[in-house]
Amino acid sequence: MRCRFIFISILIFFSINSFAQKPDLAYTIARKDTTALHIIVSFTGNRSGSSILHLPKEWASQQDLYRAVSTLKALSVQTTILATDNPDSYTIRYRPGTKVIFSYVLRKDWSGALRYPLYFRPVIQHDLFYFDGYSGLVYPDLSDTAHIRCRLTYKGFNQDDFIGNSFYAKKTDGRVILSLGNLLNSIFCAGNFRSKTINVKGRQVVIALTGKPAFTDDEAFSSISRIILAERHFWDDAGPDYYLTTFLPLYDQGNTGGTAYYHAFSLFQSADQGISGSLLPMIAHEYFHNWLGLGLKMPEPDEPYKWFSEGFTEYYSYKILLKTGIITEKDFIARINTYVKEYFLSPYFNLPSQGLIGKYWESSGLKLLSYRRGLVLAFLLDNRIKEKKLRSLDDLLRALYTESRPAMTFSNDLFNTLVRDYSDQETLTAINQANAGNNQPLSQLLFQDPVYPTDTLKVEKLFDLGFDYQVSKAAGKIKGLEAGSNAAKAGLVENMPLTDQYSIWFNNVDKPAKIGVVDHGKEELIEYMPVTKLDRSIPQFTVRSTDRGR
Ligand SMILES: [Zn+2]
Repeated sequence: MRCRFIFISILIFFSINSFAQKPDLAYTIARKDTTALHIIVSFTGNRSGSSILHLPKEWASQQDLYRAVSTLKALSVQTTILATDNPDSYTIRYRPGTKVIFSYVLRKDWSGALRYPLYFRPVIQHDLFYFDGYSGLVYPDLSDTAHIRCRLTYKGFNQDDFIGNSFYAKKTDGRVILSLGNLLNSIFCAGNFRSKTINVKGRQVVIALTGKPAFTDDEAFSSISRIILAERHFWDDAGPDYYLTTFLPLYDQGNTGGTAYYHAFSLFQSADQGISGSLLPMIAHEYFHNWLGLGLKMPEPDEPYKWFSEGFTEYYSYKILLKTGIITEKDFIARINTYVKEYFLSPYFNLPSQGLIGKYWESSGLKLLSYRRGLVLAFLLDNRIKEKKLRSLDDLLRALYTESRPAMTFSNDLFNTLVRDYSDQETLTAINQANAGNNQPLSQLLFQDPVYPTDTLKVEKLFDLGFDYQVSKAAGKIKGLEAGSNAAKAGLVENMPLTDQYSIWFNNVDKPAKIGVVDHGKEELIEYMPVTKLDRSIPQFTVRSTDRGR
């Protein structure tokens, strides 16, 4: 009896306590019309009676996000809002120490159907809305930006509208304590989404999607939740109490995008694309970064470590899909073979990883080098560890993660020690040599892979246009001509003006390239084979027949 009394009084104490705590910042979201929301904000004013209001400014590739905000209106008594020299900030004046209320209209400030990268601006259409904190929230200066008591309410939505955000789903009101950074890094949506809630060990995973993608809702619900749960299981991490994943289709072609937010993940993909080609590997890759990349950080500058942070993550995006049964072992090996081939044929095959500093974003070939090299190294290491039975790269990664505490910064020394311990010196040498630009030891070990039988793919010629096509096209003249290339031998010269006549079969080594140029004032069509000779033996793996269909 006594126990029950104590239990009840604790409950009452907590509920009184949580309601007594007024929020520092509260948002009420309502619909205004088919392309706009009406948002009411309240906050506790400071003692000076004046604060700055921050409007969205820039986020991802998007600029001037304040254009989506209009009709800033003071609602509390003796409150005025004044413009400043910056279009993204206003001054709000009020009675010191009182509750301040204002409202604004958030509008879709672009036209047409959703396409890349417009989802970094507010997406507000007749049947739903979606935006993130960076693009949609107006907020005041607050004295404590680390522990904001925030309340979020939705008003006037239909009973059958899905409501969801980084904090809760399927209800219209909730409170959370978080930092300003996390509030801005949150997502907010409502409307015509189809959703599913998966409860695992008292934790909620909510998946909400809309539109008509080229896959069924059940396929999405099942595969996305399997990936999330498999990765949490991999790292023995229960994850947050609540996690939201949203999917919105794009109406342009060939795009897949995903952004990880505070307790949420937003996915976008062209409506005609299937689920397992790009979307699921991307989810598996991005979600894995919670541990490799965010949990365990790379030292700065991070380019020399991207073979690990990106390449190992890329390897695990496929290994997780294999583990969850989303792809077969045959699919897995087919993907590995593609990466091995791309790595061996990369123009930067022999570039030391250290050489990527400051160059990473220069070209897609340079950026992809780390993904390709790292994936191949992870595959090799995984198989070399498996050879010793009972352990795999999974165990090495978990040991690396645990032993990196408390600094949680990747250490080459610790990695090397673990590789030697879980595998052998030979494997370590192959990894370090590949990162130094010498792939000989790596190639040799790949051909002796202990898990998968190996075939040899002989490549004797490679597509090589002989000049930088993109830069040349933009400049209207030949740029980046490679000395000794077939293009140079055929008569192309650096800075030679281009006509608009040309015929190029990209990545086809059997079709001649025809490039229209102006040579000494005369228009000419120069023809040559866009190839370079090389002699490379590339390992390609096969699945043992007994393993097929496993
Ligand atoms: Zn990544």
